[in-house]
Amino acid sequence: YPDHGWIMKRAEITPDSTALVDVHTGQRWSYGELAGRTAAYMERFRSAGLRKGERVAVLSHNRIDLFAVLFACAGRGLIYVPMNWRLSESELRYIVGDSGPSILLHDDDHAGRAAGLGVPFGPLDSGQATSANLRSEHVPSRLDDPWMMIYTGGTTGRPKGVVLTFESVNWNAINTIISWNLSGRDCTLNYMPLFHTGGLNALSLPVLMAGGTVVIGRKFDPEEAIRALNDHRTTISLFVPTMHQAMLDTELFWETDFPSVDVFLSGGAPCPSTVYDAYRKKGVRFREGYGMTEAGPNNFIIDADTAMKKRGAVGKSMQFNEVRIVDAQGRLCSSGEVGELQLRGRHLFSHYWNNDEATRDSLRDGWFSTGDLASRDEEGDHFIVGRKKEMIISGGENIYPQEVEQCLISHDGVKEIAVIGTADRKWGERVVAFVVAHPANVPKTEELLSHCARTLGSYKVPKDFFFVEELPKTDIGKIDKKRLSAMAEELKK
Ligand code: ATP
Ligand code: MG
Repeated sequence: YPDHGWIMKRAEITPDSTALVDVHTGQRWSYGELAGRTAAYMERFRSAGLRKGERVAVLSHNRIDLFAVLFACAGRGLIYVPMNWRLSESELRYIVGDSGPSILLHDDDHAGRAAGLGVPFGPLDSGQATSANLRSEHVPSRLDDPWMMIYTGGTTGRPKGVVLTFESVNWNAINTIISWNLSGRDCTLNYMPLFHTGGLNALSLPVLMAGGTVVIGRKFDPEEAIRALNDHRTTISLFVPTMHQAMLDTELFWETDFPSVDVFLSGGAPCPSTVYDAYRKKGVRFREGYGMTEAGPNNFIIDADTAMKKRGAVGKSMQFNEVRIVDAQGRLCSSGEVGELQLRGRHLFSHYWNNDEATRDSLRDGWFSTGDLASRDEEGDHFIVGRKKEMIISGGENIYPQEVEQCLISHDGVKEIAVIGTADRKWGERVVAFVVAHPANVPKTEELLSHCARTLGSYKVPKDFFFVEELPKTDIGKIDKKRLSAMAEELKK
């Protein structure tokens, strides 16, 4: 099935199984209803005269009918472009200008903003019942036709439009189903934004392809999420580290058992070891995943026992993709050496939208250069070391912020931590730490220095500690290191 065919096939095989549940509205759609909704959007796109290759943008909170829009785009050969509603007006204008949608669909909360962007717009369907038997004519597509364009997190610069074909999306789903052992019995709770790869491609689409259930949350609230995990008998769910931390900080988490849960996943950013400690204490299986918009996102598999033993490991490549680590000259690194992580497989994106230069720089001979540093141990398990751009070079030595962060977070007085490099006349760059202290146990700088000195080489020990109330975060909760750099410049003055 090169197109939306697989969701239609699912609807034929398991019409009455639950495909989607909306935590916020309580709506519940079977696969049959999802197919009906999909057909209704296809009719809407057909009668609006949208043609193959045109873009359909959406500006909406998480809600289940975004999946009907997505599959309808597949059915009509249109490119689905979910937009990040947290962006400012000018950032949204940039995305709209870059992607050139023929129509922008919005939910009620974003009607005003959608109207101000200078493109044709209209509301998402009202959610009235649609006949499950509705059929709409589909436009044939090839596997290498684009299905969606997802913008990257924008952590390191302007978000880049990543074009994912049917082949990319479907192979990520197939690889995930096989490597993570998903089936129709699986149920995932998703509070990650559906406009990012983590919300859409990491588990939601693989679970739908497997015939399982996807439960969609709107605004992340740790207690609501904990209840939903049990109410819907979820088996596998992914959260970013800050969401895990927020759940672990509630009393409800510690009072709750999770009998249906097979495993919790963390991804999107490095996970502090404190999160591992908490899950071990709770006796719930937990592992980290690594991924990115351009590659799936899923690439690795590790079993939860190994993950707990080897903190921070993401494991080995999944069934149908390849992983390698290369040095600056492009030579393969041996185990223990840090180099750039490269990925290959049919799940890779086809290109960056309107950015041939970035495409050429990152895709060679089928290998995608991730811009992330990694290493591999003797047993072949991989560790993500951090972004190449964030590596600090001080006095000629390479320093990986994540290593320093993991050291500092293990201090009792440190609640959150971020380490960056700032320009330094003598050393080239200097290591600087931003600390959110535990209110009940605010550590002194000297304590942190000696804590670091116990495990880190002296050149890695931060030269400055800045105590802050909170760390700036990007919209999905990654630490915003660009803003931290600006803050460090200000503080220097
Ligand atoms: P941009 O590309 O616009 O700067 P982004 O890289 O944050 O934004 P995404 O594709 O959403 O956009 O995120 C992928 C990145 O997130 C990876 O390249 C990696 O740097 C980071 N990441 C994901 N999972 C992990 C993990 N488990 N540990 C460490 N870093 C991770
Ligand atoms: Mg990126």
